Amino acid sequence: AKRAGGSTYALYETHMDEGAQEQLHLLNDLRLAIDQGQLQLHYQPKIDGQHGQIRGVEALLRWNHPERGLLNPGLFIPIAERFGLINSLGNWVIDEACRQMHAWAEIGLHMRVAINLSVHQLREEDLARRIEAALARNFVEPSQLLCEITESVAMEDIKSTQRAFEQLARIGVFLSIDDFGTGYSSLSYLRQLPARQLKIDRSFVCDVEGSADARAIVSAVIQLAHELGLRVVAEGVETQGQRDILLALHCDELQGYFLARPMAAATLEAWTEGRKPV
Ligand code: C2E
Ligand code: CA
Ligand code: CA
Ligand code: CA
Repeated sequence: AKRAGGSTYALYETHMDEGAQEQLHLLNDLRLAIDQGQLQLHYQPKIDGQHGQIRGVEALLRWNHPERGLLNPGLFIPIAERFGLINSLGNWVIDEACRQMHAWAEIGLHMRVAINLSVHQLREEDLARRIEAALARNFVEPSQLLCEITESVAMEDIKSTQRAFEQLARIGVFLSIDDFGTGYSSLSYLRQLPARQLKIDRSFVCDVEGSADARAIVSAVIQLAHELGLRVVAEGVETQGQRDILLALHCDELQGYFLARPMAAATLEAWTEGRKPV
């Protein structure tokens, strides 16, 4: 008789797609990555539109995998989110960013650092307390820390976003709406969130040179954001032309390869020589 169960399983195993196999490997490695010190933060400057000075940096997570080298978060954050590891990763990022701010302050570099928060972290009851404790442990003023939350995920679960934002604002950290324009929220909804900053998604920045529509959208977003008291950052600025248009539209800060790439802490220290934070 044919052992259907066994052969079906074997068939499934051999045909299991390589993507899923790879994810499983990465998941197992990722469980060890924190303890084994394989994570690091890179920092990308946000540049003031008026003066060209550095306004702060965004911390971007990197995984220095023992065999595969430096991995970008697009490869492992979705896995961490799916399999319940994102809160441990996120907590590591909070601690490391605060530790780095303290180390920089010790050498006279008072840098505002932005971290990216996942929606799973916003749902954790003790997020604000955890951030507050990490700041205090490292003698960092809460207003030096900025938390970026992607618009689409923030609006997906409005109730927990609002609660988390209010708790974070109460402890004095600044909040930023990331990737604006990719979700479906109206600007009037933003009024209800205590945010300080809005980041225009790269997909719009990419098009400002070639598309009058994209320019009109970006222009309207900047004007309305300003009326709501938000500072506007354009992300993914790659060309001089994009920069010139964004500045003409009164964008406050620029971020992108045209200005500076994400870099390791030591590289950033060298880069900021002569461009002290404002
Ligand atoms: P994001 O927050 O929108 O970050 C901007 C991404 O664009 C970064 O990719 C950055 O390296 C890249 N970038 C910057 N300038 C340019 C440019 O001029 N052109 C292009 N093409 N890309 C540019 P990265 O570092 O791979 O991060 C991807 C995403 O992963 C981030 O998107 C963020 O959503 C997420 N992420 C990064 N670090 C963390 C973290 O610590 N926690 C969480 N939850 N998410 C993170
Ligand atoms: Ca971000
Ligand atoms: Ca972004
Ligand atoms: Ca983006």
